[in-house]
Amino acid sequence: VRALILHGPGDVRLEDVPAPRPAAGEVVIETDYAMTCATDAKILRNGRHPAIGPCPAPFGHEVTGRVAALGAGVTGVREGDAVVVANSAPCGSCHYCAIDRPSLCENLTYLWGAYAERVRVPRPIVRANMLPRPDGLDPRMAAMIEPLACALHGATRVEAGEGDTAVILGGGVQGQFLTARLAARGCAVILCDPHPERRERARRFGATGTHDAPRDPSGVASVRELTPGGRGADLVVEAVGRPETWRIAVDLVRRGGEVLFYGGCPLGSDVTFPTEPLHYGELRLVGTYHHTPHAIRQALEMLMDPPVPFADLVGETIGLEEVAGTLATSGAKRPVRPRDLT
Ligand SMILES: [Zn+2]
Ligand SMILES: [Zn+2]
Repeated sequence: VRALILHGPGDVRLEDVPAPRPAAGEVVIETDYAMTCATDAKILRNGRHPAIGPCPAPFGHEVTGRVAALGAGVTGVREGDAVVVANSAPCGSCHYCAIDRPSLCENLTYLWGAYAERVRVPRPIVRANMLPRPDGLDPRMAAMIEPLACALHGATRVEAGEGDTAVILGGGVQGQFLTARLAARGCAVILCDPHPERRERARRFGATGTHDAPRDPSGVASVRELTPGGRGADLVVEAVGRPETWRIAVDLVRRGGEVLFYGGCPLGSDVTFPTEPLHYGELRLVGTYHHTPHAIRQALEMLMDPPVPFADLVGETIGLEEVAGTLATSGAKRPVRPRDLT
């Protein structure tokens, strides 16, 4: 079968590889669509990822398809069934799984190899995070379940709701999902991004205000002016993943407010905060990572009945040979169809 294989920084090759066979408890799916992701762009630039193993390595992690082969002991699905799969699953037995914090699982199992005609789904994912794909769901949307689930999980980490003001820094795919989620919870969302088209999209996704990205004290002051009484936001979400934006997030929140650090900074990053507003202002600074089986199910429900035009986030379908070029030049979501459309 044809598969994209990662060989190193900037080096991904379309190869003919043996068709994967499912071990006990596993499933192999025939890919309907994979989806490009900014994480894959990062992996391609770096040529590695802590969870992906040594090169050459299978590549891509957002995928939906039809069950092509079942390993021993798999029940509940049959060959030909359409499924959505998450890109990971928790182990169900470590300390963090036991205390119901599965996003912190010490033995997360990841799926890699979405950019291929056939994809092997590891046993923990089959068990916890593989769901039937409902008939009415566009498979291109189904391939986006992972990034949406990450946003939904992040939103569960904070309390802001009805009548609160949320400032979201970053209007990429995640910033848009978070806009839709927090607006549905009753927040007045102000999305900050330098790109006008992202600000316009945020309006369609439920934002009531938009602003350029604040980069300095005058930018911060100008965003704060949009919040009630100029006090600052009840919630600030950093969805960019840069240390300087993490710092600005803390400048934008009101006393007693919450900051959600959603965007992951490069490994080894440090951020310096003034202690005064954190201590005297009783700020809540909250991290979030990845998703949970609950968020995956929530995401599937939301994809079935999207509150806003999620399809807006998805560009033209491409083939496997176009993935590397797309990842190198654009952060947009592009559905990947490994075989010719028939
Ligand atoms: Zn992703
Ligand atoms: Zn675990």
